[in-house]
Amino acid sequence: MIDLKDLTIQKAHESLKNGEYTVTDLVNAYLEVIKEKNKDINAYLEVYSDVLDQAKVAEEMFKNGTATLMTGIPIALKDNILFDGHIASASSKILGNYKATYDADIIKQLKSVGTVFLGRVNMDEFAMGSSTETSAYGNTKNPVNPLYVPGGSSGGVVASVAMNGALVALGSDTGGSIRQPASFTGLVGLKPTYGNVSRSGIISMASSLDQVGPIGKNVSDVEILYEAINAYDKNDSTSIPKEKRVKDKSFRKILGVPKSFLAGDGIDKEVLENFEQSCEKLKKEGYKIVDVSLPLIKYSLAVYYIIQPAEVSSNLARYDGIRYGLSLESDKLYDVYAKTRGVGFGKEVRRRLLLGTYILSHGYYDAYYNKAVKVRDAISLELRNIFKDVDAIITPTSPFPPFKFGEKSKDPVSMYLSDLFTVPANIAGIPAISLPSGITKDGLPLGFHIMAPELREDILFLIGKDFEKLV
Ligand code: GLN
Repeated sequence: MIDLKDLTIQKAHESLKNGEYTVTDLVNAYLEVIKEKNKDINAYLEVYSDVLDQAKVAEEMFKNGTATLMTGIPIALKDNILFDGHIASASSKILGNYKATYDADIIKQLKSVGTVFLGRVNMDEFAMGSSTETSAYGNTKNPVNPLYVPGGSSGGVVASVAMNGALVALGSDTGGSIRQPASFTGLVGLKPTYGNVSRSGIISMASSLDQVGPIGKNVSDVEILYEAINAYDKNDSTSIPKEKRVKDKSFRKILGVPKSFLAGDGIDKEVLENFEQSCEKLKKEGYKIVDVSLPLIKYSLAVYYIIQPAEVSSNLARYDGIRYGLSLESDKLYDVYAKTRGVGFGKEVRRRLLLGTYILSHGYYDAYYNKAVKVRDAISLELRNIFKDVDAIITPTSPFPPFKFGEKSKDPVSMYLSDLFTVPANIAGIPAISLPSGITKDGLPLGFHIMAPELREDILFLIGKDFEKLV
């Protein structure tokens, strides 16, 4: 029996190399768990039929000495990542039958080192949501406590790892979708610097904010997967060329807390207490924690909910019933569009499309979109300046602990508040990580959130590894 609960990439790699078990054995162990648990949790929408063939390719690499750390590692893919020949639906009805015709760049990279893709996992429809309740394919339960949501939009992604149905997984994060669900399930989740990981072959949501990133049980696993996908890609115009990547490795152990931001309404008491305790622990480790003034950061959420729907309304215009996926017939072309989109998109997606179209419409564009873009620049500048004084900015990941199904889905604004602390990193394009920081008195996981300057993922891993030892 392979102990999947405490398995790490490093441990699995050693065992595979030493011949303690084969990649097929490892993959089969995960398939067993999926078979047993997925009917309750609903993390996987599909287990790929070719997993065992993929395992054989990886085994060959171990035999001929070309195996690397990610060879033979079983991972789960968020349902918005294109894997050639396999369905990628973004958990929407409109793409229910859409088969990818090419590999995302990150898939190409992982394929070349023999990583095993177990299957695609559930998410909020087109990654819009914070609980995975907007998926067209049912709710995903939180493996820590199935009465609670796993967070979102990468709910199936975190659930697959938390139920030991994958060793690590890949998600996407536009406003917090990797970090908030990681915090809800006691996992580590990283949103890399904008441009550090290619988005070619990721179903676009809000292109100026979207990033892909890893989720795992510990910082080291997340770092290893991140290193495997962190590369320049000519097919993504926002990808950062090698020569522009920093060599700066300075680290002063100074962390900033935006105190007045944390004093706002709607932040749970237990979350704040847990955050205080985390700070105390870091102080004992020799970290200096200082108060920083970031007066603009509180506008991040408002800015996000202008820019995000605006970009969504433009990106999702391509789902017209003609080019991709679902197509509902009619005599008139307009009715093909209207019917297909009316039936194919769920309620939250339609809400954002309406909002976005309104925001971009003549007469409102300046008042909303252009203004939001200006405030975005000001927030980015404010953050960039503060990093002259501190290495990183720390907050809780989510203003509240995991919530129950239905608790927020009827009130979009309360759902949107989930993103309070995570959205600034997307607005500014900087890297951020969520680390497990303990549990509430009801046993629900909480997260500690760290933002670092552009291209300084190394700072997040350093603090993360220190932090992990303390919790
Ligand atoms: N919860 C946010 C939203 O609904 C963020 C989603 C994301 O990061 N993909 O838009």
